Amino acid sequence: MASAPEVQHTLAKAAGFSGMSLHTGEKVSLKLHPAPADHGIKFRRKDLADEPTIDAKIENLKMVERATTIGEGSMRVHTVEHVLSALSAMGVDNAIVEMDANEPPIGDGSAKPYVDVIKRAGVVSQETPRRFFHVRDPMHIETKNGSMLILLPDDNGFRISCTQAGPNNRFTQFMSTDIAPEIFEREIAPARTFVYYEDVEPLMEKNLIKGGSLENAVVVRGDAVLSKEPLRFPDEFVRHKILDIIGDLALVGCRIRGHLIAVKPGHAANAELARAINKERARRQALTVPKVVPKGNGGLDSDEIMQILPHRYPFLMVDRIISFDEGGTKCIGVKSVTINEPFFQGHFPGHPVMPGVMQVEAMAQVASLLLFKLAKTTSRIGYFMSADDVKFRKPVMPGDTIFIHAELTKARGERLAKAKCHCIVNDAIVSEGELMFTFLDR
Ligand SMILES: [Zn+2]
Repeated sequence: MASAPEVQHTLAKAAGFSGMSLHTGEKVSLKLHPAPADHGIKFRRKDLADEPTIDAKIENLKMVERATTIGEGSMRVHTVEHVLSALSAMGVDNAIVEMDANEPPIGDGSAKPYVDVIKRAGVVSQETPRRFFHVRDPMHIETKNGSMLILLPDDNGFRISCTQAGPNNRFTQFMSTDIAPEIFEREIAPARTFVYYEDVEPLMEKNLIKGGSLENAVVVRGDAVLSKEPLRFPDEFVRHKILDIIGDLALVGCRIRGHLIAVKPGHAANAELARAINKERARRQALTVPKVVPKGNGGLDSDEIMQILPHRYPFLMVDRIISFDEGGTKCIGVKSVTINEPFFQGHFPGHPVMPGVMQVEAMAQVASLLLFKLAKTTSRIGYFMSADDVKFRKPVMPGDTIFIHAELTKARGERLAKAKCHCIVNDAIVSEGELMFTFLDR
């Protein structure tokens, strides 16, 4: 039973590989490094003075011709989409991508070399909840060259349904898939870059893709498919389109919960959708300050809480229950912490910090309300028996609003129950613990 929210992940250790860069044809080394929570993905140019870093954010997007380029000032990082796709789909939220050139090694033109590096490094969880963009209303992007992207709500995860079509609708392919690490590794990551001969011919003449060869791209000439090794999937092209979409949308810097319908997608359209998502996130953020606590929804106000709990000032540590989930095994309580809390007078003079044990008390009260709601009786009272795995992660100060989450994990007979709890302030877990209760008649 998952109780805590989905958390951010980074790499367990650094790992890298070397190869050729597509545009210059020179050798380049890439190394992925772990990074702290909320760091996001940054690129580091080790070959430049002071080794500047740049956020892999849509705000830094500079070019979408053939590949995705980000930049800041005069610094550029080209062809970021394949490594970003691998990091995002393999569940890495925070990392530094260090390189000694202006683009990553092209490898075999797929995301497989990056997946291999990520697996060698290992992926580990962090303590901060992941950031999500939940699609609420359909979003729609259409470009002049016929790309169409429609993003629909889907709270189950991130799903892409993609139709790819070449010139005169040759090589029309369709694929619909959930985006999850195992699926990505097996079905999407090995799909290689493909190009149309008529598009790359002028580039080859201008010597712009020195590193390009049949070893790192599939070339389509008329109806013929040219590559060093045979196609890895009959529909390899649409799979690579999905790979590129994931990489380009990684520039929004959070996980997407929704279903993307993509018809003839390309970097320009993908980037435009990433910008639209970013704008919508900014709009929502502006709306949610100050945080509005929903009323009703089967919650409890302070009077209703006091009809259930015997606790009173200064020991009532929950102001309101904002929701009980439908299964009835989870609930969320709210406690507004003010400077008038009596414990701040002594904890500590001149430096008010909410005692961790008071947070445990708040968890216990919210868990008791959950248990009473389940038992539908107030004739018995729950006594707090034990607390396991209690951790205090961040200080709670006057002015903070604590969201106290409780989930029933075990109920033994009528007398014993266990609840997993955590407290959240500003989207970060400040404390957590597993509490056990016994029930006695009042
Ligand atoms: Zn690509």
